[in-house]
Amino acid sequence: MQGHGNVGDGHLAIAPREGTKALFLDRDGTINVDHGYVHEPERFEFIDGVFDFCREAQSRGYAIIVVTNQSGIERGYFTEADFASVTKYMLDCFAREGVAIAGVLHCPSLSGPDRKPEPGLFLKAKGKYGIDMASSVNVGDRDRDLEAGRRAGVGRNLLFTGDFGALKRTLWNGQ
Ligand SMILES: [Mg+2]
Repeated sequence: MQGHGNVGDGHLAIAPREGTKALFLDRDGTINVDHGYVHEPERFEFIDGVFDFCREAQSRGYAIIVVTNQSGIERGYFTEADFASVTKYMLDCFAREGVAIAGVLHCPSLSGPDRKPEPGLFLKAKGKYGIDMASSVNVGDRDRDLEAGRRAGVGRNLLFTGDFGALKRTLWNGQ
């Protein structure tokens, strides 16, 4: 399953099929505490509840896809290799917690069609994995995350306020 430069590809447990719904997750401030341009495992601090939330999504049939602006690369704060290393660390931690991340898409640039609020990363994921956008969910801690999802046609775009328990209830209570 080695892919085409997508660092998440080696970690696919269930390959998304045509029509799969996705849980799109922002990274900094949603998966991990946003300490500012995090690119070292030592500073990668998972937010409480993220593993449980992802296991729940997984059990409901969502392919989990990380979509993240990483302008620190173009700014020269860190390299693609640094990003690949910290991504491997992140994926290993998820795997240990029973979560298979289907893909990680990042935008290294300060501008262009992939940088949120532009929808490029979401549209790439749609094309690559055959995601059904209308039944998908997008979670991020900034308005630009939600705008990008809306522009790509994601059905539900929710602001993360630090409480995965609340998010779980909002999304799936009684279902
Ligand atoms: Mg964020």
